Amino acid sequence: MSLHQGAVRLSLVYLLIAGLWIFFSDALLAWLHLPAERVEQVQLLKGLCFVLLSSVLLYLILCSHLRQQARMRQTLRTSEERLNLALESAREGLWDWDLGSDKVFFSEGYAALLGLQPAALGNSRTFWLQQLHPDDRARHERAIATIWDNASQEAFEVTLRMRHQDGDYRWIQSRGQLQLDVRGRAERFIGTASDISQRRADEHSLRQAAAVFDATQDGVLVTDSEQHIVHVNPAFARITGYNEAEVLGQNPALLKSGRHDREFYQSLWHALQNRGTWSGEVWNRRKNGEIYPQWQCIRAIHGDKGELSHYVAVFSDISALKRSQSELDHLAHHDPLSGLPNRLLFTERVENALKRAKSAQQGAVLLIDLDHFKHINESLGHNIGDLLLKAVGERLVAQLNQGMTLARLGGDEFGLLCENCLDAAQAASLAQQLLNSLGAPFNLEKHEFYMSASIGISLFPGDAENLEQVLRNADSALSKAKSSGREGYAFYTQELTEFARLRVDLISALHHALDNQELRVYYQPLHDLASGELLGVEALVRWQHPQRGLVPPGEFIPIAEESGLIGAIDAWVLRQACRQMVFWQTQTQAPRFVAVNVSSRLFSRGELDLQVARVLADTGLDPACLELEVTESAVMDNPDAALALLERLRTLGVRLAIDDFGTGYSSLARLKRLPVHKLKLDMSFVRGLPHDSDDVAITRAVVALGHSLDLKVLAEGIERPEQMEFLRQIGCDYGQGYLFGRPQPVEPEPQPSVAAS
Ligand code: C2E
Ligand code: MG
Ligand code: MG
Repeated sequence: MSLHQGAVRLSLVYLLIAGLWIFFSDALLAWLHLPAERVEQVQLLKGLCFVLLSSVLLYLILCSHLRQQARMRQTLRTSEERLNLALESAREGLWDWDLGSDKVFFSEGYAALLGLQPAALGNSRTFWLQQLHPDDRARHERAIATIWDNASQEAFEVTLRMRHQDGDYRWIQSRGQLQLDVRGRAERFIGTASDISQRRADEHSLRQAAAVFDATQDGVLVTDSEQHIVHVNPAFARITGYNEAEVLGQNPALLKSGRHDREFYQSLWHALQNRGTWSGEVWNRRKNGEIYPQWQCIRAIHGDKGELSHYVAVFSDISALKRSQSELDHLAHHDPLSGLPNRLLFTERVENALKRAKSAQQGAVLLIDLDHFKHINESLGHNIGDLLLKAVGERLVAQLNQGMTLARLGGDEFGLLCENCLDAAQAASLAQQLLNSLGAPFNLEKHEFYMSASIGISLFPGDAENLEQVLRNADSALSKAKSSGREGYAFYTQELTEFARLRVDLISALHHALDNQELRVYYQPLHDLASGELLGVEALVRWQHPQRGLVPPGEFIPIAEESGLIGAIDAWVLRQACRQMVFWQTQTQAPRFVAVNVSSRLFSRGELDLQVARVLADTGLDPACLELEVTESAVMDNPDAALALLERLRTLGVRLAIDDFGTGYSSLARLKRLPVHKLKLDMSFVRGLPHDSDDVAITRAVVALGHSLDLKVLAEGIERPEQMEFLRQIGCDYGQGYLFGRPQPVEPEPQPSVAAS
């Protein structure tokens, strides 16, 4: 019910009641038949009452009306405040366009959107339209027209650019509704507006980021702070083989390859926690099990309040890169023809070896140059030349051991680095081995070739200390090898060349010495110092070299020991000495025993007792007539094994002497337990007797020591009578030396047929 209707109804009710009052009150008066003067009085009273009642009624109605109005105003104010607050907090402005008067109300908030005071906007559309971006006017008109034409009460929404006070345009989004009057005619158009520039910019950059996320070739993985995967991009699926559904909610550990240890992940997390970011190479596993390298950047993402919200990992598959890197690396470091390392890699390795050689072992560089290779290239063409170079490379490679690098340095030149080369002899025998390997003919495309090479050797750090020097020395050694007739090797220094050649020759000659019966046994007498009587003889080997003459054992025993020939030599000497002793025993004035030297190499092998037993049995010599001399160092190097072996030898009944006593490091505790009979004082202490006080002291001490252990003591190398006299005086038992007799051959040496077999 409208206010107007209410008022009409109230007035009618009043009219009715007032009418009824007048009618019935007058009728009542008439019915009472009151005198006229009373009637006049009652009439006056009745009139007054009516006015009074009407006034009270009017008063009550007015009061009620005023209260209602106040309530309404309050409600209106409250809702207006609420609206303002809501608009303000939503940073929205209000516009209200009265279509009748064509006046527009812009709220304070609306003006603020454009950086203006409300007064600046005024209440007409003129100024507002001036602020509208020219490009958006048509759109604005169309949107308004649509609403107008349909007199539509549907929600109106349009986003337009409005000029801000600062000169820039802002995206203002307006939403509104057309208000119709009771007759359905458009009365006012009202709505709100907000600045959505930031939102549009955010949306724009989000759209861009999403496009990048989807289109990038790098895999992207996002986890929450608990490391559950919350997002992956298409490239992730392409690289890892897992689709989004398979990994969502999973832990990225699912991708681990197992190639990295715990420390690797610890340092990764440490970096993430401290710096918020980590990048590096990671080996991960694809769904198909393949392990591949990726370059990964991980970043911790924090919220507004600094709390950790996500981790984002961006990675690229670098397996192709790695492959091509290693291919490039291979290409850069290898010779395409032979597949061998090239000069670059070779020099790198030599340089490294040089660094190591400063602290540890030494090495050698061998430059190998093919002799007359040029002729083959010129006469048969480069194809054959190339094939030959390849074949040479293969032959040489077949000779390599651990710690060696063979490289093709260019043309027909090869380089060999031997990182563990003990001495010139080893380098020389390696060179000889390489030369020998080229000895057999090469069969290439129906041609048969003989190829020889020259080798230049440089040792380091002996010859040189830096790369250039080593290579230069090897090069000049190579020239030396070439100029001295090719098909050979040469060292940088002449002495080394000579020495090494001699040694290599010696080894090969020594191999034949036994077969060619070039070894001889000389015997040196051992005397009793007190009586001067001949006691025994020591068998000393000699090598009757066809060219070099008589070679002393000091020159070939070490070589024999290195090359393993010592076993055969010692066995031969032992057999020979035993035969000789048996022969002497058939003569008058035979020595009582023969002493034979046993190499420390043989001694440490442990089967010496069996060999000795066999020789004794074969020759028929009484074991008591055989003395074995072992050096002090042979015994002390491996005392337990030595003790066991000496025990077994003693059981055979042979006598045992410690040779060169004083030069090793004997432990007295051990010496005490050794089942030996004799100490042979090394000749270096005898040399200074009787004047050198040190030699005197040592000699005295050794004699005393020997006697205290119940051993006989023999002094070696007695050359002068005063030495003998002194030794005799201090109680040394036996003597050996040029004074008594030099080592002598016996002619003719007994032949195997003589010996018992
Ligand atoms: P060794 O067993 O100490 O032999 C004694 C060495 O001293 C012998 O040298 C001998 O000729 C030398 N000599 C003896 N009296 C004198 C002297 O008055 N003055 C000087 N300056 N030297 C003297 P040789 O024959 O050259 O033997 C050297 C070493 O070679 C021997 O030292 C021994 O350790 C080893 N040897 C000799 N023959 C053999 C063998 O058949 N087998 C093994 N494994 N080693 C042997
Ligand atoms: Mg000896
Ligand atoms: Mg000796």
